[in-house]
Amino acid sequence: VMASMAHLQKEKLRLQEELLELQEKLAAQENNELSLSLQLQGQVETLKAKLLEQAQEISRLRSEQGGTDVEKHRDLLAAENERLRQEMKACEGELRELQRQQQAPCRDCPHLQENAGLQEQLSQLQREAEEMRAKLVELDLEVQQKTNRLAEVELRLKDSLAERAEEEERLSRRLRDSQETIASLKSQPQQIKYIIKTVEVESAKAKQALCETQSRNQYLQEQVGMQKQVLKEMEQQLQKSQKTEAQLRAQIMMYEAELERAHGQMLEEMQAMEEEKNHAIEEAFSRAQVEMKAVHENLAGVRTNLLTLQPALRTLTHDYNSLKRQVRDFPVLLQETLRSARAEISQAIEEVHSTNRELLRKYRRELQLRKKCHNELVRLKGNIRVFGRVRPITKEDGDGPEAANAVTFDADDDAVLYLLHKGKQVSFELDKVFPPQASQEEVFQEVQALVTSCIDGYNVCIFAYGQTGAGKTYTMEGTAANPGINQRALQLLFSEVRGKAADWDYAITVSAAEIYNEALRDLLGKEPQEKLEIKLCPDGSGQLYVPGLTEFRVQSVEDINKVFEFGHIKRVTECTNLNEHSSRSHALLIVTVRGLDRSTGLRTTGKLNLVDLAGSERVGRSGAEGSRLREAQYINKSLSALGDVIYALRSRQGHVPFRNSKLTYLLQDSLSGDSKTLMMVQVSPAEKNTSETLCSLKFAERVRSVELGPVSRKAELGSWPSQEHLEGDSPGAAAPPGRSHASPSPGQLSSRSASIRRKLQTSG
Ligand code: ADP
Ligand code: MG
Repeated sequence: VMASMAHLQKEKLRLQEELLELQEKLAAQENNELSLSLQLQGQVETLKAKLLEQAQEISRLRSEQGGTDVEKHRDLLAAENERLRQEMKACEGELRELQRQQQAPCRDCPHLQENAGLQEQLSQLQREAEEMRAKLVELDLEVQQKTNRLAEVELRLKDSLAERAEEEERLSRRLRDSQETIASLKSQPQQIKYIIKTVEVESAKAKQALCETQSRNQYLQEQVGMQKQVLKEMEQQLQKSQKTEAQLRAQIMMYEAELERAHGQMLEEMQAMEEEKNHAIEEAFSRAQVEMKAVHENLAGVRTNLLTLQPALRTLTHDYNSLKRQVRDFPVLLQETLRSARAEISQAIEEVHSTNRELLRKYRRELQLRKKCHNELVRLKGNIRVFGRVRPITKEDGDGPEAANAVTFDADDDAVLYLLHKGKQVSFELDKVFPPQASQEEVFQEVQALVTSCIDGYNVCIFAYGQTGAGKTYTMEGTAANPGINQRALQLLFSEVRGKAADWDYAITVSAAEIYNEALRDLLGKEPQEKLEIKLCPDGSGQLYVPGLTEFRVQSVEDINKVFEFGHIKRVTECTNLNEHSSRSHALLIVTVRGLDRSTGLRTTGKLNLVDLAGSERVGRSGAEGSRLREAQYINKSLSALGDVIYALRSRQGHVPFRNSKLTYLLQDSLSGDSKTLMMVQVSPAEKNTSETLCSLKFAERVRSVELGPVSRKAELGSWPSQEHLEGDSPGAAAPPGRSHASPSPGQLSSRSASIRRKLQTSG
């Protein structure tokens, strides 16, 4: 739950970060939009101002332009202006709408500057036009004045001309009247003479008047000429002024054309500007729309993002809250759970304890029962068991009749073997007989129960008994490729110990010793020559121990191999002839298994003694001397003592003569009590060895056939026959000193043992 919570918290943080990012983006977008709208608003403001300016300019122009043409222009311009204003208004409306929607920036466009330049040019042109107009007006005035004067002069001239014509007419009429009068007078000579005379009288007066008139006429004619000249001058002047006027008019026309052109240009430019403005507005609008669209899309994306995020956030928040609640409740829950778990655990522990106690009780009871049963079984079977093993014929046996096989087996009974001795077939019954083809493995299978019982705390002795060359060492040690009981036993112990490692702690130690001429030597010690003593444990347990005997702790097969090798080397370096020596001494491998049951604290100690006995062949008879004889005597003595002890144990005698030899004394606690003993009697099947084979088998049968039970014990109270007596029926057998007790005959023993065997078999 914690892990998932942590994970969810992490997820939540990540989503919150994402949300923040998106919000930031949104804010930036909004800022952008705001700035854009502000920019557009500014642009609109400037455009408005410009419009106002233009309107003002137009009105100014309108006020300034006075002429009719100009007025016409003004009207036109006003109409245009009105139209433009309306358009402007529409644009403004559009712009406002645009602004309302979302405005895109219309940055300072170059047209505005151009517009300003043109406007300036326009104003300059207008100024020039104005100046021209002023000049024109001046000239007009001048022309008017001159025309007026001219009219005056003309009027005066007309008046004087009319006066002159009247005068001339008057004069010509008088002249005609006078001439008529003359003629009439001439016709009337008297009268005429009179008249002539009067006329002559009167003619002077008339002549005077005529002269006067003539002079006056002259004056008037002069005046007329003068007036005519003035008129001519005036005409000339008029012509000149008319020319000037025409010139001025042309100039005005030119100016007006220019003005018109400028106006047209201005209009065109204004139109172009308008178009550009419209275009710019359109562009800005479309750009704004596109941007707006993008912004909208963005916004929509953000919105969808937000929408998709929102449920996630909601679930996260929900999860977080529930987790928070859980976390808050967790300690309480945990406490509760812990409490209940503790209670449950303690209850379970209690239950387990009680079950354990019960089981332990049962286990102990079972153990005791098993031990009892085992003991009973051992008691019934005898805790001393005797096996026989016949080795195969080897090359060393040579060929010919000497190497012929003298041992045969019973096909139906693996406990019986027959020996052909001196033409007679003697049958022997043991606990088990291994034929020559029996493998090391098979042999070990029969003894492994003994070995494992050592783990349970039992003491075990396995002896290999027989004449030299019968296969004792082969059975006990074996070869490197085919190891014997020693190595297999240790291997089995290791594997058994490993199997029990869950409950038990085991320590396996190994010692190797040799008994030669009743002297005990440590084969693993630093000083093999040193004779060791067997002593009673000072703890009062009655147990024996050998001070100074080396013990190696072994944990693997490699360890054992090392130990064996070490022991061998000791033996080899100490002896000149190992084979000879080994056959004259008892070799012991003592394996101690100490166990501790961790649950119960139970401690067990089991000892496994694997003994390769000295050769049982009799040498005394052949008149051996010196050390050879001494060796033979020691061997004889120790093997007899072993027989005695086994006999005493098997017949449950009160006294068991352990102290009679070093070997039995050393193995005392491994032979008595619950201890188990296996005697492996090795025999050679060769014809030449039949006599020794017979002895060995007799020894085996005797060991085995000791009657169980107190009655028979009592009845069979006595000493074990000496090695020499094993020959039994041999007439030349020398009685050993101090061992002259009679022993039961082989036949008797054989039948008795058979009956016991049958009993055991029927009892299961
Ligand atoms: P011991 O120790 O009794 O003197 P050994 O064990 O040395 O006798 O045996 C004498 C010879 O017989 C050895 O070469 C050994 O390999 C051989 N031998 C003994 N028993 C067997 C057997 N069961 N199978 C094969 N060879 C054997
Ligand atoms: Mg040997």
